[in-house]
Amino acid sequence: MPLFRRGGGYDPQITILPDGKLKCSLCKSEHFKVGTLRRHFKVHTQGEVQCPFDGCKRWYYRADKLRQHLAEVHPQVSYTTPGPRK
Ligand SMILES: [Zn+2]
Ligand SMILES: [Zn+2]
Repeated sequence: MPLFRRGGGYDPQITILPDGKLKCSLCKSEHFKVGTLRRHFKVHTQGEVQCPFDGCKRWYYRADKLRQHLAEVHPQVSYTTPGPRK
């Protein structure tokens, strides 16, 4: 089973930098569009799933992204996601 870590219940804010870029208040991530920054916020609010493979261990903030990664990089594995919680 892949690891799952919760975002920790933090409440990220949008910080607007002097040069007009948008920055996540919880990490160093910078984005140009509000939409992509809001998508990034899910890392903090919904948690992440980790690829279960040794030597890979990539984090994904969406289970379907991890599933896509598994299909492309580790096609020998079948992985069923816990299912999105809405
Ligand atoms: Zn962030
Ligand atoms: Zn992987």
